[in-house]
Amino acid sequence: MKIELITIGSELLAGQTLNTNALYVGERLGLAGLTLARQTAIPDDHEIIVEAVRESMARAQWVIVSGGLGPTNDDVTKKAIARVFGTTLVFHDEILAELKTRYARAGRPTTPYLETQALLPDGAEIIPNPVGTAVGFYLSDGRTTAAVVPGVPREMRPMIADFIVPRIAAAAGVRSRTIIWSTTGVPESRLYEILEPLMRAHPDIEVGFLPSEYGVRLKFTAGGPDAASALERWSGVVRPLLGRAVYAEADIGLPAVLGELLKRRGLTIALAESCTGGLAAKRMTDVPGSSAYVVAGFVTYANEAKTALLGVDAQLIVAHGAVSEEVAAAMAQGALTRSGADCAIAITGVAGPDGGTAEKPVGTVWIAAAVKGQPVRTERLQLLGDRAMIRARAAQGALNLLRLYLEDLGE
Ligand code: AMP
Ligand code: MG
Repeated sequence: MKIELITIGSELLAGQTLNTNALYVGERLGLAGLTLARQTAIPDDHEIIVEAVRESMARAQWVIVSGGLGPTNDDVTKKAIARVFGTTLVFHDEILAELKTRYARAGRPTTPYLETQALLPDGAEIIPNPVGTAVGFYLSDGRTTAAVVPGVPREMRPMIADFIVPRIAAAAGVRSRTIIWSTTGVPESRLYEILEPLMRAHPDIEVGFLPSEYGVRLKFTAGGPDAASALERWSGVVRPLLGRAVYAEADIGLPAVLGELLKRRGLTIALAESCTGGLAAKRMTDVPGSSAYVVAGFVTYANEAKTALLGVDAQLIVAHGAVSEEVAAAMAQGALTRSGADCAIAITGVAGPDGGTAEKPVGTVWIAAAVKGQPVRTERLQLLGDRAMIRARAAQGALNLLRLYLEDLGE
């Protein structure tokens, strides 16, 4: 079963848009035990699309096509696909009716461009788009099926995940299953050391390491009819060895998990940040519904701001330096008292590239976690990477410190 992807969009070739759709399609297929044989990025050009789709169809049984369905693209993709299949675009009343209903419900006036969204190549089977106006479609010549979706990532993702990948997996008869766990705070090399002997003992489980600045996601895949039970056995063996490095047995960000911990306990949080400049607060508030537990974020870069906004004793900064255990702890304590939150984290460090000393080289970060009525916890991190990496890891480290603290305190 060969699957190819064609991403259409002149912006992808002009260095204006990162081809995240290619990433997404590859990942979703991978989770279903399928792999892409080839990925082609091409501009919004009728002739080039026709040629690329023909070439892919000659090689593959499935060709996923993304992009060129929006109002600014003059239906280049649809017309080109129709030409490849030797058909024309036909008007679908039911699509227009549905779009008009949706617009009316949202109180938006209909626009003439909705009409063009109701045109599809003859013989196309509709793939619904609950999020946007451009429906997707399947078109088959009996040997190869093209699955065409809009380029807008937010719109194409549910269409890929909920419709196209399950259909291809069913057609391919794959039975493999994949689970992803999220870890943080333990380097990939250490995780590998822990898992390596088990990987040799369980060759039926494929193990993937997906590192990022936030940690390492672990991907476990099993094939065959008893894939589910094989994964269950594997999980039972591996989970205790990985211990608290695993913050979720799912593919999910740490802020969402910490948010759930806070919500479950009815606690609120404040964040005091120096070298991360609000990154931890930004990530916590990226989570929908975070207003239920995020009280405040303090970005205190200058020493005077640490004193004025968080009540950090100026003498403490003079005595130990802004990047120190004492100041990190005082920042967390200050965030608690100044905001009235139940928990707080604090971050102070040297993000670089300048500002490092022999005693506190670039990447030295002190983090602290405070919980009302409990002693403040601190940790020194020695982080590698460039400025962006150090900041990302520092914010993640602080959130993780509080996650571990709350888990230790129990419900
Ligand atoms: P469309 O009109 O269907 O071509 O979608 C256009 C919008 O989706 C533009 O904002 C593009 O930047 C974005 N887009 C299109 N293709 C991709 C892709 N392969 N990866 C990420 N974004 C894309
Ligand atoms: Mg486009």
